[in-house]
Amino acid sequence: MLKTDHMQGQVDKTKGKPNAKPGEIRVRIAPSPTGDPHVGTAYIALFNYVFAKKNGGKFILRIEDTDRNRYRASSQLAIMDALRWVGLDWDEGPDKGGEFGPYLQSERNELYRDEVNKLILAGEAYRCFCSSERLQKVREEQRKRKENPKYDGHCRKMAKEESEEKAKKGEAFTVRLAVPKEGTIVFKDKLRGDVEISFGQLDDQVLLKSDGFPTYHLANVVDDHHMNISHVIRAEEWISSTPKHVLLYKAFGWQEPEWIHMPLLRNKDKSKISKRKNPVSVMYYKDIGVLPEALINFLGNLGWSYGDDKELFTLSDMIENFDWSKVSLGGPVFDQDKLRWFNEQYIHGLSLDELESALSDWRMSSSKWKKILPLMQKRIKTLNDFVEGASWFFVGDIPIESIQD
Ligand code: GLU
Ligand code: ZN
Repeated sequence: MLKTDHMQGQVDKTKGKPNAKPGEIRVRIAPSPTGDPHVGTAYIALFNYVFAKKNGGKFILRIEDTDRNRYRASSQLAIMDALRWVGLDWDEGPDKGGEFGPYLQSERNELYRDEVNKLILAGEAYRCFCSSERLQKVREEQRKRKENPKYDGHCRKMAKEESEEKAKKGEAFTVRLAVPKEGTIVFKDKLRGDVEISFGQLDDQVLLKSDGFPTYHLANVVDDHHMNISHVIRAEEWISSTPKHVLLYKAFGWQEPEWIHMPLLRNKDKSKISKRKNPVSVMYYKDIGVLPEALINFLGNLGWSYGDDKELFTLSDMIENFDWSKVSLGGPVFDQDKLRWFNEQYIHGLSLDELESALSDWRMSSSKWKKILPLMQKRIKTLNDFVEGASWFFVGDIPIESIQD
């Protein structure tokens, strides 16, 4: 059943807000706080940030925390720390507020429900009362017939009165988008040109889950609209969601943003970047002593080029020289050796004072260091003993967890 208790006492702060100034560039990074801050998030944040700054626009941080099973509060804080550490601070966000807040999706439920109700009234969406057993059975039969698993439209045919009646009685339901049965949808990606998909390939997407929370698709589109996002700059992996989003914009009668899907970062073997083959947490790089400027410079060279074969550039150089035409779509490789090379250049370029402060910043914030301290305390008699005793911790990448007390 749809629960309303988690929404009581909350005001929809997004209603009646003035629209952003015409032509204003507003972009966002919209991470889901489900794990360690990912280098892919920093990468996409970088391009959003640079594009915003180049155009005098706004860079917004929105936390997409509607998946309550995977939500981790510590992850949200770590993502914010990581973005701040690399110098990609936001203009509006959960900690800063802003005209279009709140910036946590879990605080915007009332808005999603209002909007989805409008779609139901307009016949663009419908309630689905199917049990998970029924949906599973439908899928199994489709599989046997070698068809793509898809919702069979059972509840789409239900009369509006019956649907209202069932909802009033408290029967559990989800809300689905009524995807047109025939035709195609085309959207324009700034880097790829027209992308076309036939409606037949799209499912009647769930918009509102039975727990009353929106799905990614609904919340993402409603927020991008209400936050006046002008350009959606995100990773290629979301490109298959974009037709659903475009359909939603059409169903609502809203103007869609511009779409820009950045190439996926890859492991050395060209597979999609993954933990198994490549450390992906921004914090890992912080811990091993990569300088934030080096990481940003390295990320800026992935899929984008400054021109004139210039590899070393600062964030402000990148902003000044930024242009979408310099993005290439061939999968950029997250090459550890290359990152180390960048870091080396930055370290060598520091003055001794800067090096000292980089080292002390690193020491103060490194979680690796903090884990060593209690182990070392029991082993040393003078502070100098620490240097000898701890040096081997820093060689290579020994997981601290494996060191016995
Ligand atoms: N919450 C999605 C993510 O984790 C947002 C994707 C998008 O930018 O639309 O990346
Ligand atoms: Zn149904």
